[in-house]
Amino acid sequence: MSEMILGIDLGTTNSAVGVVDSGFPILLANEDGRRITPSAVWIGEDGSIEVGAKALRRRVLEPGRVVTSVKRLMGRRMSEVEDDFPVKVETGVDGLPRVLGKTPEELSAEILREMKRVAEWRLGVVVTKAVITVPAYFHDAQRAATKRAGELAGLEVVRILNEPTAAALAYGLERLGEKSRVAVYDLGGGTFDLSILEMQDGVFQVLATHGDTRLGGDDLDRTLLDFILERAGIAEVSQLNRVRLSAEAERVKMALSNESEAVFRVPFYDGSRSLEQVVTREELERLAAPWLARTQRLCRQALADAALKAEDLSAVLVVGGSTRMPAVRRAVAELFGCEPDVSQHPDEAVALGATIQGGVLGGTLKQMILLDVTPLSLGIETFGGLMNVLIPRNTTIPCKAGEMFTNAADGQLAMRVRVLQGEREMAKDNWELGSFDVPFAPAGKGQTRVGVQFKIDENGILEVLARDITTGVDTIMQIESAAVDVDDMAVEAMVSASVEHAFSDMAERVFTEARMKAEELLPAVEAVLNQGLADDFERAEIDAAVIAVKEALAAGAANPLKAAVQRLDTATEALAARLVEQALDAALDRQLAGE
Ligand code: AMP
Repeated sequence: MSEMILGIDLGTTNSAVGVVDSGFPILLANEDGRRITPSAVWIGEDGSIEVGAKALRRRVLEPGRVVTSVKRLMGRRMSEVEDDFPVKVETGVDGLPRVLGKTPEELSAEILREMKRVAEWRLGVVVTKAVITVPAYFHDAQRAATKRAGELAGLEVVRILNEPTAAALAYGLERLGEKSRVAVYDLGGGTFDLSILEMQDGVFQVLATHGDTRLGGDDLDRTLLDFILERAGIAEVSQLNRVRLSAEAERVKMALSNESEAVFRVPFYDGSRSLEQVVTREELERLAAPWLARTQRLCRQALADAALKAEDLSAVLVVGGSTRMPAVRRAVAELFGCEPDVSQHPDEAVALGATIQGGVLGGTLKQMILLDVTPLSLGIETFGGLMNVLIPRNTTIPCKAGEMFTNAADGQLAMRVRVLQGEREMAKDNWELGSFDVPFAPAGKGQTRVGVQFKIDENGILEVLARDITTGVDTIMQIESAAVDVDDMAVEAMVSASVEHAFSDMAERVFTEARMKAEELLPAVEAVLNQGLADDFERAEIDAAVIAVKEALAAGAANPLKAAVQRLDTATEALAARLVEQALDAALDRQLAGE
């Protein structure tokens, strides 16, 4: 049975809500006839609350009682809050931020409650479920805070959807059936994301995503204001005055998207002094250059992650309010070598995509599905403390992968399955998601076989199954939200660490693998030599190779050990072949004698 699920874009600056109605995703307008509602909350002295344009209008008289950009506080600790947040941020008893006595979740819940109210008022029915969008680079705590905000607003949050993915869904709805790879460049007020998606026949696959949760139009407003203040020789302004001045800086910035110059004018900003200056687009663009370069760097990283070049993309969508700036569009064109696709409404595409996803989940829209990717590799620890990857990073989910493992020692009673996540070569440098033992009957080394299978479902839940092949007994462990909901900063740190340590990690892996081979080879060679099958010439070379292996082992040198093991392998090759031949001859003789 199909049900109505709202799609909500909970934006830093504006929010929007939609629903699939009669098979079409539509955004719902508020009482002002606008599909976009400012993400502003006014809290009166008596605790009364107003949201949206009504709240913003109160800012002139009561700037300290109107909260905007609350999204920038979601899931953040006090130490992570910027100094110039538009209203005063205090520390709550739990050490987390409070604004006017409310948590960021409670404030966001007011915005969500308003979106729910607008939708119910338009639709004439009660709606209790929603898909809410977040920047792709929101980490776990920020996503969890968004979900809690939804619950506080009386909504069951059926999916937290990444904003750029939502924009691609909106773009893709008109292009079902076409195969294309698109990048979504999303530069809003507070965050930047670049996602690369592939779509075909209504299936959307996220190939890579990169971004920064603290990079957006607000930064440019700040930079512009600092520039103006410096030019005017003003060293300091109070936080309250800064709010008014920032609002004017933003207005000037937006005006410069259409004009080549604009006047920054704030009369009596501190009660007595006024500030008036002409700002040119050229000046703004000069200030924006380092800011744009940061977005370009992140784009290159996403392309590299998806193993794609700019020319492999069929389109680059731009969404988010800041992409209205001509300099932003030029930077996108320059990087990707094509004009950005502006077919999507920069303020509405995300809400529309959330609405589409709501329609898919509610069963009212059937022709699309969305696939996500694993942010980090998943695997288990194997012999020698090595990481054995079963599902590599950036694999589309849902997915499944398995491998066979054997016991490392004679008579071993159980095998420990340590489930790991990360990009490092050695297990100890990755994160352990969980572990369990698979018991088995004692047998010789390498004789007990255990099949390990990793399965990630569409919600990112990882199921690890270990099967003792002899008995067929399964041991299963479920790891919730480990596969996709990883703290994005931690993902970034892990990936950078893997790059930073690439050489030493690889050397450690090479050494460990060679050491294990040496430990297996040395006793075997000794046993064969004792049988006296080697000629003098062979024997000399084998002895020399054995010494080289032992020396390299003692020195802990990876490449020399690998080379020495290889030498020993080669030196014993002919001998090993002779042994096999002898064994075969003996078997044949036995067979003939039996006949
Ligand atoms: P969003 O988070 O997508 O709602 O985007 C909000 C950001 O877009 C804010 O930083 C706005 O200042 C910025 N913005 C909106 N319109 C324009 C415009 N015409 N030119 C430049 N920036 C804009």
